[in-house]
Amino acid sequence: MERKLIAAGNWKMNMDYNEGRDLAQAVASGLQPSDVLVIMGTPYVHLKNISGIIKDISNIKLAAQNCHQEENGAYTGEISAAMLKSCGVDFVILGHSERREYFGEADELIAKKIDIVLKYGMQPIYCCGEKLEVREAGKHEELVGEQVKTALYHLTKEQMQRVVIAYEPVWAIGTGKTATPQQAQDMHEYIRSLIRKKFGQEVADATTILYGGSVKPDNAQELFSQPDVDGGLVGGASLKAKDFLAIASSF
Ligand code: PEP
Repeated sequence: MERKLIAAGNWKMNMDYNEGRDLAQAVASGLQPSDVLVIMGTPYVHLKNISGIIKDISNIKLAAQNCHQEENGAYTGEISAAMLKSCGVDFVILGHSERREYFGEADELIAKKIDIVLKYGMQPIYCCGEKLEVREAGKHEELVGEQVKTALYHLTKEQMQRVVIAYEPVWAIGTGKTATPQQAQDMHEYIRSLIRKKFGQEVADATTILYGGSVKPDNAQELFSQPDVDGGLVGGASLKAKDFLAIASSF
């Protein structure tokens, strides 16, 4: 595995079936061939259809936004890793701050979800990041460090090479407030140092670390030009093909 440049979209709970199809088609037809990997993180109901739309385009992949931690069974309303895999999913966004906030997910649970996603041959996009009060108290590295250690330090080197990390300061998500390129770089460098300590230089160098939090066409280039920022996890701006494509060409 090597470090990739990635523009990943997170549609969250937006887009009905037809809107989702149209958006995926617009992204697929507007994307220029490049080294940048584009990922669409769609609601479950779109996955199978969109996997058909993108199947011949090598630099677009599909992500789910969550996954249950158990293999199968009596978990009404939940979706398993095997189901996702069978619908053509390559990546699974895990530990998004909205899942932490509204669904009580913590890193011990997220660690289990990472395990099952890896077991089924998909790649986790592991989200971490601090709330505003934590940053204001100067404890953001401590908190993100704890998150990363709890969710990822049990993995083997081989498993870690398949994990994408997304640093998403909670105060920047959906707020229009972006971390400065320097704030993003500092945290990404810190996260990479944690990966280096546990998994070694080679794995750290190969780990893709995305920034998320109000990434837009007009700020993407400056963020992505930081040495440890390997792309973005994009919420709002991924819902407009033109904006998302502009972000994907900002490297
Ligand atoms: C996100 O959903 O992960 C996100 C970063 O959202 P936004 O780009 O809208 O801030």
